Amino acid sequence: MYSLRMRASKDGSHISGGERIIARSRVLMEAKGLLLRAMDHVIGMPDEIHLTIEEIKDKILYGESLPISTIETIGVDDSRIKAAGLLSLIGVSKKAVESAFREISKGASPDGKNMRGAMIIDMDTGKRLEPDPCRGIRVSRMDITEEAEDALKIEMKRARAEGERVKEALILATKVSMGGTLAELCWSDNPDYTTGYVASKRYGYVRFPHLKKDGDPKGGRAFFLMGSEMNLNSYIAFLERMPLLIRKITPGSSPCRWEEFLENQVYRKS
Ligand code: AMP
Repeated sequence: MYSLRMRASKDGSHISGGERIIARSRVLMEAKGLLLRAMDHVIGMPDEIHLTIEEIKDKILYGESLPISTIETIGVDDSRIKAAGLLSLIGVSKKAVESAFREISKGASPDGKNMRGAMIIDMDTGKRLEPDPCRGIRVSRMDITEEAEDALKIEMKRARAEGERVKEALILATKVSMGGTLAELCWSDNPDYTTGYVASKRYGYVRFPHLKKDGDPKGGRAFFLMGSEMNLNSYIAFLERMPLLIRKITPGSSPCRWEEFLENQVYRKS
């Protein structure tokens, strides 16, 4: 098996990226697909593209996706209140939730730009723990098997959450949750894409349609951790280096109101 990783940038700023874990026979075809993606992005033409093709020598971990849900919301304030509410149900402190929203909204890198990767936030104190606050943590070496991708297409249609972006974010969020992350908060830096999510083992991958205003170029990711209980080095090594293939799709629920979502959770647990 091979890991393919692409990242494209312009004047040092990230434009797009992509990941595959595939058999040797598909390397050429998938490499071409990633290069096409790099050169055809809404943000513009990159001046640098890195494509890494690497044979995987470690053991590959197999996993099951988080279930997808979408909460019907009306506008940014409503979405943020509900996303914050879900984070607090998961056990993230108010301080940590506020810190994540504030940092992502203003550009979490020290220069006020978007980070390339994710912040790690202590779920109690709200302190940032990632070693490099410009780069953050880059989750990498993850993909989905062809069979699971077929099942995911059906599931995404049912959940009315279609598109390559949802697929890739779900794969990433699943790996992040498998690494021992209590919760993840994310919204895109693409100005046209306002749907964000809160992901966790407990509630799955929960989408909120308006986590930022249309046209806002700021976006980012926060991973909430029980900082005192984690070995940060092995946590980061898992997210950045352990190859993961999703081979089973967990069914989620159809888009629903916040109250219905909470009722379904109670029902699921009983
Ligand atoms: P995107 O959903 O691709 O627009 O990414 C939103 C934000 O998530 C970016 O601005 C980065 O801060 C962060 N991010 C993107 N890719 C990764 C990754 N592979 N691992 C961790 N964080 C990422």
